[in-house]
Amino acid sequence: MVRRFRVVVVGGGFAGLTTALALAHNHSTVSVVLVEPQDHFLFTPLLYELLSGELQMWQVAPSLDHLLSSRGISWIKDKVVSINRQHRCLTTGGGCELHFDRLVLTCGGVLQSFGVPGVADHAIGFRSLADLRRLQKLVQGLQAQPQPLQRLAIVGAGYSGVELACKLADLLPDQVLIELIEQGDAILQGSREFNRQQALAALQHRDVRLRCHSRVQMVAADHLKLLVHGQREILPCAGVIWTAGLAVEPPRLMPAAMTSAQGQLLCHGDLRLLGDEAIFAGGDVAAVSGQSQESPPATAQVAIQQAPVLAHNVLASLQGEPLKEFHWNDLGEMLSLGCGQATITAKGFTMAGPTAARLREAIYLVRMPGVGHRLAAAAGWVGEHWKA
Ligand SMILES: Cc1cc2nc3c(=O)[nH]c(=O)nc-3n(C[C@H](O)[C@H](O)[C@H](O)COP(=O)(O)OP(=O)(O)OC[C@H]3O[C@@H](n4cnc5c(N)ncnc54)[C@H](O)[C@@H]3O)c2cc1C
Repeated sequence: MVRRFRVVVVGGGFAGLTTALALAHNHSTVSVVLVEPQDHFLFTPLLYELLSGELQMWQVAPSLDHLLSSRGISWIKDKVVSINRQHRCLTTGGGCELHFDRLVLTCGGVLQSFGVPGVADHAIGFRSLADLRRLQKLVQGLQAQPQPLQRLAIVGAGYSGVELACKLADLLPDQVLIELIEQGDAILQGSREFNRQQALAALQHRDVRLRCHSRVQMVAADHLKLLVHGQREILPCAGVIWTAGLAVEPPRLMPAAMTSAQGQLLCHGDLRLLGDEAIFAGGDVAAVSGQSQESPPATAQVAIQQAPVLAHNVLASLQGEPLKEFHWNDLGEMLSLGCGQATITAKGFTMAGPTAARLREAIYLVRMPGVGHRLAAAAGWVGEHWKA
C-alpha cells in the first residue's frame, strides 16, 4: 500500500484555505489537515460592505463546514501553540499532538498596538467578525442616540483607515465628526496617485477631519492623548478604531526560526522556511529573504497568488522534484470609498465612482475560495443588483 504523506496547514485564511483546497484537489498521495480556530473564512477586503449591510454575512464570511464539505480535508477547530521542528510535530491549544511530513504556516497577522497604552482595552480593531460586531454596536448606539459634537477617532490613514472613515461617514451622516489620525504627513503612503487623489476627495466630501503629524500616546474609554507637532492634546471621542499597522504572532517554533525586523518568518524564494526542508510559510506571516527580490506586501492578493506555489512546492518536495520560486504579479489596487463608491487602479487602468464600486465587488466575489461558494456569492450579488 502506498503511504499517504500528511500535510498540515496552519490557518484557514487567504493563503491557508486556498493552499489546502489546491492540495486536496490535485493529489491523492497526501492527506490534508487544516488547523483553524474560527468556524468561518473571512474575506477581509469586503468587511466594510458587511458593516454597511451592502453585502451579507454568508457571502463575506462563509462557514468552513460549507467550504470544506466533501473536499477531503480534515479540519481541526483549534489553534496551534507550538511546533517541534526536529520531531515534525505540533501541539494545539486543546492539547492535540499532530505529526506532519510537511507543514504550511499561514496564520496571518494581528492588530499592532505599537505598545500604546489603552489600545487593547479601549480601541476596536477592524480585522475580525468580533471586531465588526463591536463596531456595529457602537454605530447603532450613535445612530439611536445622536448627541451634539460627538467624535469617532480612526487611528491610521492607511487603506483600512481611509476606507472605514468613508464608510462610517456615510453610515452616520451629520451625526458624528470623524477624525482620521495619522502620524505621517499624508494618507495612503505607497498607494497609487489616482487612488490617493480620489480618496482625499472622498474624505473631504464627507467632512472627515484628517489630522496628519499626530501620534497617539494613550487611548482611554472616552478620549485620546495625542502628540501633535510636539504639543500634547486631548481629543474627546465616543469611540476609537485602531487600524494602524500589522503584527504577527506565529506559534512558538522550536528551535526558533529566523524572522524579519517586523517578526515575520523568513523564507526562501520558494517559500520554504530558511534552513528548513519540511516547513513552508505564506501570507502575512511570511517574508521572503534574499537580495534578488523585495518581499511582497502583506495583502490578500499576494496570499492568494502564493497558494498554488505553496501547494506545488509541498508536493514537489515530497517527490524530490524541483521547487518553483514565487514571483508576485502586482494586479493593482481597489479601495472602497463609502457606500456605493470605489476607486480602482490596475495595470494602467483607472476608474472611480459607482461603476468602480460594482466592478470591485464583482471582482472580489469571483475571487472567493471554493467554486461552489464563488458561484453562490456571485449569483446572490447579481440578484441584489437586478432588484435594485
Ligand atoms: C479590513 C481589511 C481590509 C483588507 N483589504 C484588503 C484588500 O482590499 N486587498 C488586499 O489584497 N488585502 C487586504 N487586506 C489584507 C488581507 O486581509 C491580508 O493580507 C490577508 O488576509 C492575509 O492572508 P493570510 O492567509 O496570511 O492571513 P488571514 O487571511 O488573516 O488568515 C489567517 C488565519 O490563521 C488563523 N490563525 C491564526 N493563528 C493561528 C494558529 N496559531 N493556529 C491556527 N490558525 C491560526 C486565523 O484565525 C486566520 O483565519 C485587508 C485586511 C483587512 C483587515
